[in-house]
Order: sequence, then C-alpha cells, then structure tokens
Amino acid sequence: MTHPLRTYRGSCHCGAVRFEVDTDLPELTMCDCSMCKRRNALMVKVHESQWRLLAGAQALTEYQFHTHTARHFFCRVCGIYPFHRKRVTPDFLGINVHCLEDIDLSGVPVRQAVGAAMP
Ligand SMILES: [Zn+2]
Repeated sequence: MTHPLRTYRGSCHCGAVRFEVDTDLPELTMCDCSMCKRRNALMVKVHESQWRLLAGAQALTEYQFHTHTARHFFCRVCGIYPFHRKRVTPDFLGINVHCLEDIDLSGVPVRQAVGAAMP
C-alpha cells in the first residue's frame, strides 16, 4: 500500500552520522551482491535531492570494491552502514531503512535486486 510522502530522520548507531530523506516508500530492495548479502541490508532508493546529510561527514568512511563506482559509506565509530551511492545510477542513494526513525514498513513491497549477476 502507498505511504504518504514524508521526511524520515536517520542516523547510525552512535549518532555521529545523521541525515534526512524524503520518500513515500514505493518499494524496498534487498540485494544479493557480495556486499549486501553480508550486511543483510534492506534499502530504499532515493534521489540525492531527497537526501540531506545533517551531521557526520567527518565520521563517514568509504568502502569501494569491484568497479569502484558504488560508494559504500560506514560510520567509522560504530561501523553501521547508513547509505550508499549506487553504481548504475550514481545520483541515487540506497538508504538502510533500519537506520530511519519511526518508519512503518508494513505493506511496502520488497524487491530482490540482482546485484551478483551484474557485470
Ligand atoms: Zn556511528
């Protein structure tokens, strides 16, 4: 079912990294790439214009692999993955929905994204 467009506040575990996203939660994605399988991520995709980093630019550390286009960010203090920049569509971010406050995921479809089979 559709959720209204609203702003969600997000943070890592220790609170060093804080951000906001505007989304109506059209769908969630799970990815089967080597990275996402290990972090067990459930993500929502937003355009960079719907995302604002409020704090923690200094706390973010970046991990890249494979083609080095996708940019995976982690809090260097608590190790939590809050979001990443997508490889195929770098102006979009994948947001870890479990980092968002007061989020109701009921009725939001989950799509299995194919990461492992991407060239
Ligand atoms: Zn943290």
